[in-house]
Amino acid sequence: MHNNPDVIVIGAGVIGASVAWHLAALGARNVLVLERGQIGNGTSSQSSGILRTHYSVIENVALARRSWSAFKDFAAYVGDEDAAAGLVPCGYLIAAPEGPKLEPLRAALAAQQASGIPVELLTPQQAAERLPICRFDDAALIGFEPEAGFADATLVATSFARAARRRGVRILEGVAVQGLLRDEHGRVTGVDTPQGRFHAGVVVSAQNIWATELARWTGIATPVKPERHSVLALEGPEAYTYQMPVYKDLGSPGMLYCRSYGGRQMLVSEGTVGETLAEPDNEQGDIPMDYVAEVGAQAAERFPSYETAGLASSWTGVYDVTPDWNPVLGRVPEVPGLVVAFGFSGHGFKLSPAVGRVLAQEALGMPTDVSLAPYALERFRTGQLLTGSYGSGAVS
Ligand SMILES: Cc1cc2nc3c(=O)[nH]c(=O)nc-3n(C[C@H](O)[C@H](O)[C@H](O)COP(=O)(O)OP(=O)(O)OC[C@H]3O[C@@H](n4cnc5c(N)ncnc54)[C@H](O)[C@@H]3O)c2cc1C
Repeated sequence: MHNNPDVIVIGAGVIGASVAWHLAALGARNVLVLERGQIGNGTSSQSSGILRTHYSVIENVALARRSWSAFKDFAAYVGDEDAAAGLVPCGYLIAAPEGPKLEPLRAALAAQQASGIPVELLTPQQAAERLPICRFDDAALIGFEPEAGFADATLVATSFARAARRRGVRILEGVAVQGLLRDEHGRVTGVDTPQGRFHAGVVVSAQNIWATELARWTGIATPVKPERHSVLALEGPEAYTYQMPVYKDLGSPGMLYCRSYGGRQMLVSEGTVGETLAEPDNEQGDIPMDYVAEVGAQAAERFPSYETAGLASSWTGVYDVTPDWNPVLGRVPEVPGLVVAFGFSGHGFKLSPAVGRVLAQEALGMPTDVSLAPYALERFRTGQLLTGSYGSGAVS
C-alpha cells in the first residue's frame, strides 16, 4: 500500500524536476516523481545549455526572463546552498546580414527593449571587441544581450531534484509509467507501473519526446516528433574563452549557434531542422564526417582561424519538436486531472524554472504567473500557432 500523493510528476528531466521543486515550494505536501531512467539523464543531458531572452515569439520572452532571474542566483532561488546551475554569464550576441532574417531580428530586439530587457545594438567594431575571433564585416544588425549565457542542464535537473527531496518530495528512479488510471468520468486518478499503481488527483507529464505515450494512453494526439541534432566541439588555434559571448549567426545556412566549451573550445551546432526519428529514443546517433566538414566550414566562414580547427568531441541530442517549434503547456480538457509539458523543440532549458513554476501553479489550481492559453494543445486544432518569425528552428 503506497501513501497517496496529491500530485504525480512523470519524468525527472529539467522540466519534471523543476515542476516537482516548485510544487513543494508552493506548499504541496505530497509529491511523487516517477522517472524511468535516472534524474537528468534524458534529453536534458544532451543540452547545449544556452540561456537568452531573445525570442521572436513574445510569449516566450516572459518565461525566459523569469527563468534568467532564477539561474542568476540558483542556489538562493531553490534555497539550497548545495545547488548549482554552472552558469557562465557571458552574454548573447546575435547578428544578421542584409536578407530575410534582418527585419525579424530588428523586430525581436525592439520587442525585447520594449519589455524592459537590456539589449544593446552594436557596431561591427564593438561586436569584435566582445568576440575578437569572429568576423562581423557583413553584419547589418547586431544585438547584444548582457543578461544571458549558458549553464549546465544536468546540474540544474539534479539540483532541482535534490532541493525538492529536501522539501519532502519523493523521487523514484527506475520506475516507468505504463498507463494512466482514470475513473468512470475519464478523470485521472493515478498511474500504473510495473512496481504497482500510484494514486493521485493530478498527474503532470514532463516526458519530452516520450510524450507520444500519452497519445497511446488517452487517444488524444500529442503532436511532437523526436528530431536528432548534432553538437560539435572544435579545437581552434584561438581560444573561445568564457568571457566571449554566445554567438547566434542568422546569416549562416545552418543558423549556427556557438559558445565556449570548457573555456577553450567552441561548441557549435545548427539551429535548423534535424533528423526525424521513427521512434522516441535519445541514444547516440552517427555523425557523418561530411556533416562535420560542412558545419566546420560554416564555422570557419565566421571564425577565420577555425579553418584549421580539429574536431575535439561530438554528440547527438534529441529535440521534442512540435509543428510550431514551441511547447505545449497546461491542462488537456478531455482528460481532467492531466497537466502536460512537452514539445520544447530544442529551447526548453532556458525556460525550465518559470515553466516549472507555472505548471506547478496550474496543477495546484492557482493563478499562473504567465498565461498558459497561448501554449494550449488546442492551438494545433484552432490554428492559433506560436510560429516564430525566423522560420523553423529552435531560435523561435
Ligand atoms: C542537442 C540539444 C541542444 C539543446 N540546446 C539547448 C539550449 O542551448 N538552450 C535551451 O534552452 N535548450 C536547449 N535544448 C533543449 C533542452 O535541453 C530541453 O528542452 C530540456 O532539457 C528538456 O527537458 P525535459 O525535462 O522536457 O526532457 P528530458 O530531460 O528528456 O526528461 C524527460 C524524462 O522523462 C522520462 N520519462 C519519459 N517517459 C516516462 C515514463 N513513461 N515513465 C517514467 N519516466 C518517463 C525520461 O526518462 C526522461 O528522463 C537542447 C536540447 C538538445 C537535445
